[in-house]
Amino acid sequence: MKAGSSPKRISPPPSAAKSDTAKRKVKTSSQGKKYATIRRDLERQRKAMLEEAVEGLANPNGQEAFPDVSDQASAEAEQNFLMRIREREQRLVKKIDEALERMNQNIYGICERCEEEIPYPRLKARPVTTLCIDCKTLEEQAEKARR
Ligand SMILES: [Zn+2]
Repeated sequence: MKAGSSPKRISPPPSAAKSDTAKRKVKTSSQGKKYATIRRDLERQRKAMLEEAVEGLANPNGQEAFPDVSDQASAEAEQNFLMRIREREQRLVKKIDEALERMNQNIYGICERCEEEIPYPRLKARPVTTLCIDCKTLEEQAEKARR
């Protein structure tokens, strides 16, 4: 039997598949550029927090060995502490999500109360904030008065 008589197959060029994904929709929103750094920070922070949370769940501080009762009590206290931390983290992750959502809707960086633009340095320092410094101060005063 003769072998090797099969014709050469022409495989498609490897670049053919690439062009598809390269065409991403480019949004021409001014906010996208303006807050690109903050968005990147938020996304990075979100990812880090979620990874941490997952780690925390998989191994809650390696508290498998507690030889006596007092250690068990402290382990429980620690558990509570971790849960509170996680609640706090969950709230922050939610806030980050909301901030990213506001970016998508192009309403990021606008004060919820007075609808003025929140100064960039404040956003950079507290990217999840929804209030300008004046309104935040007013709100804090109102909260204190309520107590
Ligand atoms: Zn305001």
